[in-house]
Amino acid sequence: MKLVNLHSHFSLPENQLGLVNHSILLPFRPQKGQLYSVGLHPWDLDAIKGTSWLLQLEQLLQHPQVMAIGECGIDRHLETAVDQQTELFLAQAELAEKHSKPMILHAVRSYADLLQLKKQRADAPPWILHGYQGNKQTTEQLVRYNFHFAIGAALLKNQEKLNRSLAAIPRRQLFFETDESSVNIESIYIFAAKLLNIPLPTLCKQVFNNYQQIFER
Ligand SMILES: [Zn+2]
Repeated sequence: MKLVNLHSHFSLPENQLGLVNHSILLPFRPQKGQLYSVGLHPWDLDAIKGTSWLLQLEQLLQHPQVMAIGECGIDRHLETAVDQQTELFLAQAELAEKHSKPMILHAVRSYADLLQLKKQRADAPPWILHGYQGNKQTTEQLVRYNFHFAIGAALLKNQEKLNRSLAAIPRRQLFFETDESSVNIESIYIFAAKLLNIPLPTLCKQVFNNYQQIFER
């Protein structure tokens, strides 16, 4: 059984299963054996002109190695207006629904925004919050609207806030990831299993099942 590393910006070794992030602004040259998410990151919104990126994205969704749209989302640290970010995010959400693709979400101070948007889209394919660091109360709200969560290297800082959120996430909505960090995915699993007080193999199997549920239907 492979270890799920849901979201990474680097190619994954053979013993890991997950999505390598690819920006729609760059030429897509898939490597053999790798799976991808493709999308328009809110940091890149100024780089696009017109709607050709959206047509390109829709085309790439037909590629057998493209499993999800992302990362995309809303980042309130940016100067780009939130309305504009929302508009381009929703364009991607519509494609996700049309092609039954999950989404990998980038969210900075925007959990409330995404929650509002998701409320109107109860039947959307899974929305997976990557780099998740919300507090327990936010987590409970997001859980109610069926978000999924990918927790990364931040967990290793052993901060009470994220530890409590981890405990509040139903196991079937949980993932782990390395994102852009150089941390081993193994160390994140080991740490999480200790926090949750469950055997490491049980946690690995659970997350593997979660991956299959969403990506191998
Ligand atoms: Zn990322």
